[in-house]
Amino acid sequence: MKAKNVKFNNQIQPDILPELKRRVTQYLTDKNLTAQDSPAIYFKVAFWLVAWVATYVWAFSGLVSGIWLFLVGILHGLTHVFIAFNIAHDANHNAISRNLNVNRLLSYTLDLIGVSSYLWRVAHNQDHHGYVNVEGVDSNIEGYGLLRLSPEAPYKSFHRYQYLYAPLLYSVSTINYVLAKDFKIMRELYARGKKVPTSEIFSLFASKLFYMTYMLILPMVFLPVAWYYVVLCFITVHVLVGNILALTFIVGHLTEEAHFPEVEADGKLSQNWAIHVYETTNDFATKNAVLTWFLGGINVHVIHHLLPYVNHTHYRSLVPIIKQTALDFDIPYHQIPSFSQAIVSHFKFLYAMGLPESVKTATEPVSIPVE
Ligand SMILES: [Zn+2]
Repeated sequence: MKAKNVKFNNQIQPDILPELKRRVTQYLTDKNLTAQDSPAIYFKVAFWLVAWVATYVWAFSGLVSGIWLFLVGILHGLTHVFIAFNIAHDANHNAISRNLNVNRLLSYTLDLIGVSSYLWRVAHNQDHHGYVNVEGVDSNIEGYGLLRLSPEAPYKSFHRYQYLYAPLLYSVSTINYVLAKDFKIMRELYARGKKVPTSEIFSLFASKLFYMTYMLILPMVFLPVAWYYVVLCFITVHVLVGNILALTFIVGHLTEEAHFPEVEADGKLSQNWAIHVYETTNDFATKNAVLTWFLGGINVHVIHHLLPYVNHTHYRSLVPIIKQTALDFDIPYHQIPSFSQAIVSHFKFLYAMGLPESVKTATEPVSIPVE
């Protein structure tokens, strides 16, 4: 299904999104805050960029060797995931600054870690944010036939075991992104009749070359270790980063709580877009300030989907507004109390999606007590 063919019924309760925006703007104004350009977000940008450089320099400093060098390599790899969460995600949503050039510049932090920010905006901002949990459009529920991540996805008998083997696939998800997925998104864009600017194709290849050079070639040439030591560290980083990214981005939508609204044959969805977001998205562990800081607010996901231009340092304080707006408009709000409960719910969801006879009942929402 092409995105342009899917239509929401925005005649239903059309006031939800404007009212939510009004309340959030009012809150920020009352507190003398701005949606972008807050000191907290710039501190995080600086912190993670310094961490990215410092851990790399540390590895080459000669101060560490053996297993300690390996661990510093892992630490450097982990800064990539926090750059994605805390800088690249906000920048690609224009949430860091009111100055679009600042956002564009910081969006290239994604290219620094081997992923084309241009193509990511297509897959994430348009296909995922625009059509959450809509089979065939939302890039986040694409299981390549190996995982069944929605009731509309084709069923294969081996999906019965997907709750067991999913972490293996998550382990290769980021290396797949670097080596293959960007090129797949580009092919799909061409198939849709869209043209990718030459400068972006150049950036795509430059990003891959830069990433492979500093992650593999330079360590192999300049560090006093065997080549396979570098490769092992590289693979370990991707296993960790792949699982962290999958289990944080995915549990915002793919759990027992979230809905998978059915698209009619003519592409119509029965709901207003804002209600669709509330129905298909979960918040989790919103009381956990430390987790929220590291995850760049990914756990406070409903507000992110509805108002992605607000930078994530505000999210936790906006949870009461999200909750109250849901109550006032009589729409569901999914909140899972802890990160571990969200992960358990994701694996229960995978299990249910592997059972063809329970697919429909598995997607019925489970009511979670609101804080
Ligand atoms: Zn997003």
